Amino acid sequence: LAQGMEPMGKPAVEFRDIDIFYGKFAAVRKFSLAIGKGSFVTLLGPSGCGKTTILRSIAGLVDISSGQISIGGKRVDDIPIYKRNIGLVFQNYALFPHKNVFDNVAFGLKYRNVPKAEIVRRVGKALEMVRLPGSEKKLPSQLSGGQQQRIALARAIVFEPEVLLLDEPLSALDANMREDMRVEIKKIQKETGITAIFVTHDQEEALSMSDRIVVMNAGVVEQIGTPGEVYDRPATAFVANFLGKANMLPGTVSAMDGAMVTIALATGHTVRAASPKSLAPGSAVTVVVRPQKLTVCAAAIANRLAGRIVSTSYLGGNAVYEIDIGGNTPVRANTLIDGQPLREGEPVDVGFDPKGCVLLDAQGVRIE
Ligand code: ATP
Repeated sequence: LAQGMEPMGKPAVEFRDIDIFYGKFAAVRKFSLAIGKGSFVTLLGPSGCGKTTILRSIAGLVDISSGQISIGGKRVDDIPIYKRNIGLVFQNYALFPHKNVFDNVAFGLKYRNVPKAEIVRRVGKALEMVRLPGSEKKLPSQLSGGQQQRIALARAIVFEPEVLLLDEPLSALDANMREDMRVEIKKIQKETGITAIFVTHDQEEALSMSDRIVVMNAGVVEQIGTPGEVYDRPATAFVANFLGKANMLPGTVSAMDGAMVTIALATGHTVRAASPKSLAPGSAVTVVVRPQKLTVCAAAIANRLAGRIVSTSYLGGNAVYEIDIGGNTPVRANTLIDGQPLREGEPVDVGFDPKGCVLLDAQGVRIE
């Protein structure tokens, strides 16, 4: 499977063949990943896929069963938590409720015996960074959820850790706040140049914030790549479905000419698609087309599939259509529209560029 870009130079964090068991249950299997210094990597996957377990293993909060973890080129799997230089931000803020903002943020510095004047300077700077300057005397209960999460972030970065671990830090915030915080966390991470590992099950968060995304499913890596790579070139059926919407059109190869394959779809339509390799006639394949790549119109277009609109969602400037083309499930098209959207029951032609799709084999793995 695609591993995405490898970082240049010595990785800031490296996992080699990690297995993690809870009793007999393998929560993570054969996990390998190298993270470049200063990059923002997201572990993305559904609940229970093992992403939190991996994050906790870096901090030393869970033991790995086999493999190696290195931070800055040094193995840490035998180093206790308090000696690992790591900043942590959790979903539920985890501030000390009876300590004021200053004492909350200063915690890691006091613990490291930093002189008092230096602590005051660094706490002030961290609070400026999270845009809450002058809030030193406030108690957590006097702050909003978003502000508390900024304080938690200030506390995690104030001692300049080698790695910043963020475990679903935005999931307790309301939708608007969440979007602002996405931008802000990303900005602070770039400004400080800190290496960050972020855990989320939210694909939008992953796509908008990450340099690279690790898509996980049931304890194993499905794909590692840039947001563009995992979205446009999903390596497996799981990735195609987990990141955004995907139309999955099963069919059989009927002919191959040059780099183009002709496929007889289960719906009875025939389509052409660009294929990275030669495929034998009769092979089972699935054509994966994003809703944005489908054209819905009456004019002659490539890969024309006749169908009928079954539902219309007008979103102002664009519309999402579900179109019955004779398969088990309707295809979904998301198109820009000028004027009125098409209505349910209307016959339409749907088309897509042969180069605007991905082919999966019978096992659901992308054909390379
Ligand atoms: P979520 O988003 O729900 O937190 P996750 O992808 O972070 O999910 P993990 O918390 O890493 O998943 O859990 C991975 C698997 O290991 C799950 O099946 C979970 O039930 C199991 N697991 C986690 N912690 C323990 C534990 N302490 N003891 C036993 N099983 C555990």
